[in-house]
Amino acid sequence: MDLNTITEIARPRQRAQLPVWQPGDAWLAGGTWLFSEPQPQLTRLVDLADLCWPALEIDDTGLHIAATCKISELDAMTFPSTWAAASLVNQCCRSFLASFKIWNAATVGGNLCMALPAGPMIALAAALDGFCTIWTQGGERHLSITDFILGPQRSALKPGELLRRIDLPLAALRRRTSFRQIALSPLGRSAALLIGTQSPDNGSFVLTVTASTPRPIRLSFANIPTPAALRKRLEDEVPRENYYDDVHGAPEWRRHVTLQFAEEIRSELAGTGARAT
Ligand SMILES: Cc1cc2nc3c(=O)[nH]c(=O)nc-3n(C[C@H](O)[C@H](O)[C@H](O)COP(=O)(O)OP(=O)(O)OC[C@H]3O[C@@H](n4cnc5c(N)ncnc54)[C@H](O)[C@@H]3O)c2cc1C
Repeated sequence: MDLNTITEIARPRQRAQLPVWQPGDAWLAGGTWLFSEPQPQLTRLVDLADLCWPALEIDDTGLHIAATCKISELDAMTFPSTWAAASLVNQCCRSFLASFKIWNAATVGGNLCMALPAGPMIALAAALDGFCTIWTQGGERHLSITDFILGPQRSALKPGELLRRIDLPLAALRRRTSFRQIALSPLGRSAALLIGTQSPDNGSFVLTVTASTPRPIRLSFANIPTPAALRKRLEDEVPRENYYDDVHGAPEWRRHVTLQFAEEIRSELAGTGARAT
């Protein structure tokens, strides 16, 4: 849709050219959300495309994802064979309610900054110990993904701050994983998306719950817990009234599938359950 209150588009090519932030400004990434509904409060867009950040970089510390990396670029990437968790990348990229047009324009950073409960890049980054690099006025700061996402459409970004990069550390990329996702319709927006990971070094287990809760929840255990211990921890950390309620799923149903998926993931990583196809 046309945003008919916009009077200017800035196209910086480097950090020094970023305009001084003013009320009415918005960063423009893929534009898939920005152009999907009226934005009467906006007068200027600051397009991030010409900053030309390398989309994906691999080094011996892990994976570095530019905020402007497109979902389609991430999905097409080939990762080292020792990165057992790499399968999560494709699973999460394919968990959008999205046409190919969205897929080829939407960015990883845009998905995080939207902070929707069903943000699959949020799930990926939260499950793999991701942390964000944020450009502040003249400096930068770092936050874990779980601290970055505060609630539905609420991130920790202050006015004028720019998400620059998401880093996934090597140790997380080497973890074994199990993934479960459900939506009300086959290609619908996720109502629950859960990821379990297990360390190949010390057996520690982490369950990440997204989409069924307003913000990502991470539960860490020294080892794979018993079914009862996992259920109790989930019930303690996500009480019945804290499940997310919107048109994509009733809270009671989201709770039911969350508890079921948690047990399936636990059992799969313990080697006693079937792998999802
Ligand atoms: C049909 C349709 C289906 C969708 N399905 C889903 C879905 O299943 N799950 C989901 O989570 N979302 C979904 N969305 C919402 C949206 O398209 C995605 O979240 C997408 O990833 C946003 O990325 P973008 O690059 O297009 O962001 P944009 O639309 O460009 O920006 C989104 C917001 O983030 C801000 N922003 C973008 N990049 C940065 C940055 N680097 N630093 C600071 N702020 C920034 C923008 O100013 C804006 O407020 C859908 C949208 C549509 C239209």
